[in-house]
Amino acid sequence: MSFNLATALRESRRSHPDKPLCHIGELTVTYAQADRASGRIAATLRALGLGPGARVAVQLPNVPQFLFAYFGILKAGLVMVPLNPLLKAPEIAYQLHDADAQLLITFEEFADQAVKGAELADGVATYVVPLPGSDRTFPGTRPYEELYAANDTGEIAPTGSDDTAVLLYTSGTTGRPKGAELTHFQLYMNCTVTGEVFGYRPDDVALAVLPLFHVFGLSGVLNMAVRHGGTLALVPRFETAAVLDALERHRCTIFAGVPTMYTALLQADIAGRDLGALRVGVCGGAPLPGDILRAFEAKFAGVAILEGYGLSETASTTTFNISTEQRRVLSIGKPIWGVEVRIVDDTGAVLPPGPDQVGEILVRGHNVMKGYHQRPEETAEALRGGWLHTGDLGHQDHDGYFFVVDRKKDLVIRGGYNVYPREVEEVLHTHPAVAEAAVVGRPDDRLGEEVVAVVSLAPGAHTTPEDLTAHCRQQLAAYKYPREIRIVDALPKGPTGKILKKELRAGLSRP
Ligand code: ATP
Repeated sequence: MSFNLATALRESRRSHPDKPLCHIGELTVTYAQADRASGRIAATLRALGLGPGARVAVQLPNVPQFLFAYFGILKAGLVMVPLNPLLKAPEIAYQLHDADAQLLITFEEFADQAVKGAELADGVATYVVPLPGSDRTFPGTRPYEELYAANDTGEIAPTGSDDTAVLLYTSGTTGRPKGAELTHFQLYMNCTVTGEVFGYRPDDVALAVLPLFHVFGLSGVLNMAVRHGGTLALVPRFETAAVLDALERHRCTIFAGVPTMYTALLQADIAGRDLGALRVGVCGGAPLPGDILRAFEAKFAGVAILEGYGLSETASTTTFNISTEQRRVLSIGKPIWGVEVRIVDDTGAVLPPGPDQVGEILVRGHNVMKGYHQRPEETAEALRGGWLHTGDLGHQDHDGYFFVVDRKKDLVIRGGYNVYPREVEEVLHTHPAVAEAAVVGRPDDRLGEEVVAVVSLAPGAHTTPEDLTAHCRQQLAAYKYPREIRIVDALPKGPTGKILKKELRAGLSRP
């Protein structure tokens, strides 16, 4: 069966060619323009002799050229490998090499590292998208305009539904990046089903600040808009003022973000801004503290935050709280259509519903990746018995709502007792002075691990570690409350805005 995800762009163009697909600053790109631009790239890639399934790496921020490259690659029947723009040369080389990429499209801002990385990876052909108005050249690279050398033939390669469309490297929050192979069908199903349950409307304008190289941005924001005929307001980097300006200017109806973005918006001054068009905030990627959700909804009147859960390995959404009426705060919602979720204990036995029935979250369905690129052992480990082992701990309630308790790797075992950092973080968030909180384990000779909290404070707020400890002691059992609390200016974050616990742990074990 021939099935190509890029058909979603073609179909949307057919029904509304002149509608904006994206805005960025003053610039607007229509569906017809994006379809044509990506058609030229597809024809050029074919003319360059790239055969079916060849990998093309794209290291771009949220700019229209990302969209053109993505759909161009798909239309040519090739595999898109999105790279994080912040990677350094050896990391770029590693991913180019691991993916066996034939070509790299990067951005002037990142070109120094990218060019070095491409050289290290045996000289992968590199194209650099220039910054507006720039005439800087990079020796050894090809001019970006050359990618538009061929005419758009309108052709979309007849890839199979099980062919890999995107090789998505896991963000490396916990280890060395692995390339999750996501097929045309999986990605198409995910944006189709998620959009349907959540009632995505053709007149929706979604703010796209989540990086498009990450599964949430790529599938949950970009594919979602293209599939349902919506419009994107692209913001290349998360800065509170830039996000608020774009929300207001483009009358965005949807904001999609990770919890730290909601925390940042919560602290912003929005007096005098017209954000009335905004109707929903989609949240995922990390646990959303209940207090942040409530405070956000109180401040941004009329906006409902709907939380979902997903991984790079699940083409984005696995579970979702589909509406305010049907959601459960602190829950990740219910599995989307065609997806099954179960909780198992260490022996693999399925656990019944109940808050104390905590086990690993397993996922099966159309959204689960084919496997990790060229890693049969890791694939076999992750996909046991047809179920994806997520490495996340959770439970479900009697109504079928699921809850993420924590990542297995983040669990702190103090003196033989399991401490779920998320539970402690929730308590810290109820303290009015706390803006962000992360709880990690520190190696301890006597107890195995000790519970340590690292927090940042809301602007202008004051408190002391002793006061925060007292606050936690009132609400948590003795083995759970943090014995050490550090107050810092800001918590370390990865490119998607998630808090990097790996770095926090490393910082704690340093003398
Ligand atoms: P890596 O796999 O490289 O360690 P990562 O785990 O951050 O990086 P992603 O695929 O970006 O990889 O994120 C998926 C993870 O994000 C999930 O496994 C889960 O731990 C976390 N996550 C996603 N949504 C939620 C949510 N709503 N609540 C809690 N955690 C979530």
